[in-house]
Amino acid sequence: MMRQYYDIKKEYSDCILFYRMGDFYEMFYDDALTASKVLEITLTKRSGSNENSPPMCGVPFHSVDRYLNTLVQSGYKVAICEQTEDPKLAKGLVKREVIRIVTPGTNLDTSALEETKNNFLMGIMAVNEDYGIALVDVSTGEFLVTELVSSKSLLDEITKFEPAEIVCNENLIISGILTDEFIEKQNLTITKLERRYYEYAAAVRMIKKHFKVEVLDGLGLSGMDNAICSAGMVLAYLYETQKNDLTHIIAIKPYFSSAYMMLDGSTRRNLELTETLRDKNKRGSLLWVLDKTKTAMGARLLRSFLEQPLVNKAEIEARLDAIEDFNKNIITREEIREYLNPVYDIERLLAKICYKSANPRDLLAFMNSIEFLPAIKSLLPEFSSKLLCDYNEMFDTLSDIYEKIDRAIFPEAPLSVREGRIIKEGYNEEIDRLRRASTEGKTLVSELENEEKERTGIKNLKIKYNKVFGYYIEVTNSYKDLVPDDWTRKQTLTNAERYITPRLKEFENMILGAQERLVTLEYELFSGLRDEIADEIIRISKTAKAIAGIDAFISLSVVAESENFTRPQINEEGIVDIKDGRHPVVEKMMGGDGFIVNDTYLDNKNDRISIITGPNMAGKSTYMRQTAIIVLMAQIGSFVPASFANIGICDRIFTRVGASDDLASGQSTFMVEMTEVANILRNATKDSLLILDEIGRGTSTFDGLSIAWAVVEYISNPRLLGAKTLFATHYHELTELEGKLPNVNNYCIAVREDGDNIVFLRKIVKGGADKSYGIQVARLAGVPDSVIERAKELAVELDSNDILEKAKRLEVKGAGDSPSGAKEYVENKNVIEFLSETGGMPDKNEEKRLIKPNK
Ligand code: ADP
Repeated sequence: MMRQYYDIKKEYSDCILFYRMGDFYEMFYDDALTASKVLEITLTKRSGSNENSPPMCGVPFHSVDRYLNTLVQSGYKVAICEQTEDPKLAKGLVKREVIRIVTPGTNLDTSALEETKNNFLMGIMAVNEDYGIALVDVSTGEFLVTELVSSKSLLDEITKFEPAEIVCNENLIISGILTDEFIEKQNLTITKLERRYYEYAAAVRMIKKHFKVEVLDGLGLSGMDNAICSAGMVLAYLYETQKNDLTHIIAIKPYFSSAYMMLDGSTRRNLELTETLRDKNKRGSLLWVLDKTKTAMGARLLRSFLEQPLVNKAEIEARLDAIEDFNKNIITREEIREYLNPVYDIERLLAKICYKSANPRDLLAFMNSIEFLPAIKSLLPEFSSKLLCDYNEMFDTLSDIYEKIDRAIFPEAPLSVREGRIIKEGYNEEIDRLRRASTEGKTLVSELENEEKERTGIKNLKIKYNKVFGYYIEVTNSYKDLVPDDWTRKQTLTNAERYITPRLKEFENMILGAQERLVTLEYELFSGLRDEIADEIIRISKTAKAIAGIDAFISLSVVAESENFTRPQINEEGIVDIKDGRHPVVEKMMGGDGFIVNDTYLDNKNDRISIITGPNMAGKSTYMRQTAIIVLMAQIGSFVPASFANIGICDRIFTRVGASDDLASGQSTFMVEMTEVANILRNATKDSLLILDEIGRGTSTFDGLSIAWAVVEYISNPRLLGAKTLFATHYHELTELEGKLPNVNNYCIAVREDGDNIVFLRKIVKGGADKSYGIQVARLAGVPDSVIERAKELAVELDSNDILEKAKRLEVKGAGDSPSGAKEYVENKNVIEFLSETGGMPDKNEEKRLIKPNK
């Protein structure tokens, strides 16, 4: 047996091998050491073995899923090796085979998967700085491919899709683009594959074979060589690990990042789109506000909207139309919503059905999910928007499938497919006959029990059944003497004896024979039905997509209504005009009461950059995020929290806010900040929206101010960048830029002085703040009075500092649209040098600076 084990293990050396022995999966050697630690189970040796025998551990087959999930979620791959012949019939050693390899990206067990999130396996084909990307969700059958042309966009794509597992060519590993920190942060399992997986010719063959096409053009893949290699790679990997024909992967969808708003990883995190920055909770994220979906499919779709905002006006308007359609007919909307309540994850159930791993309860869940589809379908014609009409078209009531399951499957069917009690009465004659035979046998047995009682006078005689002995008569010791000669003794217990008789054996054969045949036949009928449903995959998955869409738009409509959102206008002129805007999450966290509304106006002319000043806690960052979130919401096609909004489509949103989430990566805060600034200045375009919070804070005042100043100059210059920007700063000196640069405006968040205290008004107003109120905020935060008093004294003394005077005298570089602006900027000495020359070296007054108030 161990020889068989070694042979199999050799082929699956990178997996933990679950080797089936009877009712257990056993692991040996290193596998056992790893598994016993990860699973917290006991490490043993084979019984009766000597000291040198291998360490082993095992898990019972009936609860294997739990153990499997733990290992897979910890990043291991598990090869499941089953007995492939009946041990009773086997001559010699039972044949065994690996029937499936479960990896983080191919786990199908719904209890291990996050319901509202895709579980992607990502294939990456790296060729220099070009990448082919394939994404497959085995649990839903989704298959996406694209090509990327920079390693930056590769990292963005990984943060966007958060794949559970990556497979790639060797180049990617050698390039070192996926650093250890990144891998750890994204919790990635990465497998380098051999050349045969991604060779172009092999990939083409693989794709053609899987999708049963002669040429790839029809799939929309022509010219996308790297994408083709990556798609071939994941298919080959899936065939090898799943050992299954993957019939539920019916389509491959090329997508182009240019069709979506670009959001880098840190912006996604900063804007808290799907989880909060601090504790990675959904509660407190934008998704938490927007997600009122009823089904897992709808929830996944809505999440993908958030992850991929649109940039095409017509597509955005189409979504807004769908929401408006539902808003206009709330009664019908709510009725549909009711019908969506019992709908389970049809996509994942369908994947299980195609995998032949669906059990009777899964089919019942499927049936219950589609019960109300006819009702939904009948309501859809009430809507006229393009998207909802499309969904109606795609939507099938699936009534035939409902009836099939309803007719066949017993409502209390068990989880197991090998225990019978699956098929309903009246579905199949043979089954009914066998059931009758079995019942008849059982009646005969109980009649026999009475007969024998009478005949022998043993009053407490009982006929019982167990798996080892079958049927037997049990007699307690006190009646032993009354046992007749024609009984055969089978077993002696301490206080009873067990017997059989020829007639009992006869009935037993009748019952057990019928039952065995019944179990086999029920299984056959069940899997036949399962296959019939699998054949309807196209109809079912289209309907599932329609349900997802309907659910997602109903959710957006419900939220628009309950949170009092308005439909945004969409423009392509780069104007962002928001009246009475709110931050949807902060507002909701406040219980919808007391949030102060604010306007935003930015455009491509005179209002490109807003410099926002105001004390800590005034609400600067809330205001800036709110603007970014409203723009983003509009571009996912949602209504927005404002009384009016006209949103110019942005190609990207960049945010640069606190660096706390990157501290773990081992870079200094300042370094992280500057890397992000560099990334923004390099990749932003004039159609981007930038949210910059306190750039230059992580260094000395002089350097920091200089960098901030130079950054604003650079952004404001349409020849260099010219992006719309909200720029919050503590450097009041920057307010000097208004008037010097034509498109920069000052705003501040109002506070009212109340004696020694300040009252936050949370209202954004034109003009720069004249004071920082740092000491007052420190007081609010509970800094001891003595420190506050001393700080006040120092502030008065230090007040004569003259950076502001110098800032007033500064000239700006590259102002306005002068054609020489860019050149001039690059050629001239930069502001940093200028300031350090005029302002002196920053280290001189180190101590003073530490306590100097921000003025
Ligand atoms: P800053 O960035 O200026 O330090 P924040 O934006 O972090 O300030 O705001 C501080 C707190 O003030 C927020 O946590 C929020 O609770 C509250 N706040 C901010 N803006 C508003 C507003 N418009 N209405 C009501 N409360 C607000």
